[in-house]
Amino acid sequence: MKTKHAAQRIQDEWVFGEYGGVNPSICDSATFTFMHPETMSELFTHEIEGCFLYSRHWNPSNKALGDALAQLEGSEAALVTASGMAAISSVLLQLCRSGDEIVSSRTVYGGTYALMKYFLPRFGIKTRFVNIVDLAAVEEAITGRTRLIYTETLSNPLLELADIPGLSELAHDYELPLVVDNTFTPLIFTPLEMGADIVVHSLTKYINGSSDCVAGAVCATPQFVRSLIDVSTGAAMLLGPVLDSFRANSILKNLHTLHVRMRQHSANAHFLAQKLQDAGVRIHYPGLTTHPQHHRVRELMHPRYGFGGMMTLDAGDWDTASALMAGMQDAQIGYIAVSLGFHKTLFSAPGSSTSSEIPEAEQAVMGLGPGLIRFSIGLDQHIDITLARIMDCLDEVGLLGQTVPSRPVPEPAIA
Ligand SMILES: *Cc1c(COP(=O)(O)O)cnc(C)c1O
Repeated sequence: MKTKHAAQRIQDEWVFGEYGGVNPSICDSATFTFMHPETMSELFTHEIEGCFLYSRHWNPSNKALGDALAQLEGSEAALVTASGMAAISSVLLQLCRSGDEIVSSRTVYGGTYALMKYFLPRFGIKTRFVNIVDLAAVEEAITGRTRLIYTETLSNPLLELADIPGLSELAHDYELPLVVDNTFTPLIFTPLEMGADIVVHSLTKYINGSSDCVAGAVCATPQFVRSLIDVSTGAAMLLGPVLDSFRANSILKNLHTLHVRMRQHSANAHFLAQKLQDAGVRIHYPGLTTHPQHHRVRELMHPRYGFGGMMTLDAGDWDTASALMAGMQDAQIGYIAVSLGFHKTLFSAPGSSTSSEIPEAEQAVMGLGPGLIRFSIGLDQHIDITLARIMDCLDEVGLLGQTVPSRPVPEPAIA
């Protein structure tokens, strides 16, 4: 385990621009020159490493962002990709071939679910979906054909915690890699330090934080990253989801404010979750003592960053959820939009949007009801005003009927 925490490692990881600029220069070249033809052929035959060849393989801007993300997750290497889905699909296709199986959490991002359920079977890759909280069920799903175990740290959208240390032990008993999507909880959890083998991210969300682009990353060993960009056999190299270097550069700048943003997202979400629960509203939030894995979350998290900015509210049925979301957008609480990690609060009903790839019957088994609203809480300076507006909107749709006695707000998680 690394002794420095992620935020410190990122702080210590800085790159000058070509002319001493405080930010690294943007690489504006698709291809790179070689001093000698021999050097180029050595690069293709893997005899040398560490020089730039062609931008789909590596370029300095993507390398600078990749190196900083490796510091974030405590991996030795990282590859950046054009989207989170590119990172996920590259990893799965690199590890699996026809006839292989994946054991995956059933509560994963809708796109990941659709990739595993509908797309990968075309290539003979089958996924067994399990309740990832139930380690016995995970073990039962492992067969001689299983190639990896896949989960999200905090599941989407129900915010269940995957027990990474437990899953890692199980995976390693069967000599399988544990792949973890840590998009919801950068800095809060460091899965590799808990025993995961590969971490994937959608940088589109918290890490970039400005909802202006789509990007992804794979944090892993240098060997695995090299395998992804191998000129003959690398999934990322051959499918080609390369991140534009202008974007790599802008994401790197935003990465340096991630710790400040995470603390504010978490503080705001914790405040709203507690107050709304006290008002009798059905809330899922890992920072609430009513969350089934609250204590385990506390054990595994880096407390300085709080319990994250994601919260769900159960409005009971779709009509109420829909009216509430419309009211909240009118009241300028935030936007009806998918995605997360923006400065403004974003909300959507996953059952009919981001998780609509999951059949209704399966949604019901997961506890994903049609009235569930997922919130990505923003960076609001005056969160008390936001709370008052949400209360008005809840009242408007009849969700403030029950009076539940108010409980003391727990110790603030933010140091
Ligand atoms: C958004 C998201 C993805 C997909 O990322 P894109 O950047 O949109 O391709 C994957 N996993 C999780 C948890 C996400 O929220």
